[in-house]
Amino acid sequence: MDSRSPTTTPDSCIFCAIADGRAPAEVVYEDEHTVAFMDINPAAKGHVLVIPKRHARDLFDVSEEDVQHVMRAVLRVARAIEKALRPDGLNLMHATRRAAFQSVYHFHVHVIPRWWEDGIRPLWRHAAGDPDELREVGERIRKAAESPADGPPETP
Ligand code: 5GP
Ligand code: ZN
Repeated sequence: MDSRSPTTTPDSCIFCAIADGRAPAEVVYEDEHTVAFMDINPAAKGHVLVIPKRHARDLFDVSEEDVQHVMRAVLRVARAIEKALRPDGLNLMHATRRAAFQSVYHFHVHVIPRWWEDGIRPLWRHAAGDPDELREVGERIRKAAESPADGPPETP
């Protein structure tokens, strides 16, 4: 676990509280495994968060099953947003750990409708990568991807 990211337990987790009704939220979709609700600090009009009901810290902690449930709900919510709001575009966003801007330590996916002139800036500049590095890093990831995805990553 990343020591710079705080520890959250289901008891102290705001998204667990939303999932089981202890905290209020503007819920837009719910099923047996997931809840989707409006982000209280929307990046753009219609910004929704989709979470598994079962607590998991981040992408390295959540089960493959819950990711599947969440992604099914994400698709449903995205299509509902398209139908209800007719945005100009849409981003899916996810943050794991503080270095990637995670601020709530219960796995979630951001569904963000995009609008011309919404003022959201790109996260990175498109600049060509070093071909040797692309090959070398690609090889390391390819090797790591050969073993099953579940469980903590091995130390290099
Ligand atoms: P992260 O920064 O971890 O990727 O995203 C966490 C998101 O949760 C933020 O966009 C933040 O606005 C939202 N958020 C934090 N606390 C609450 C809350 O109590 N209710 C709702 N609806 N959203 C929250
Ligand atoms: Zn939680």
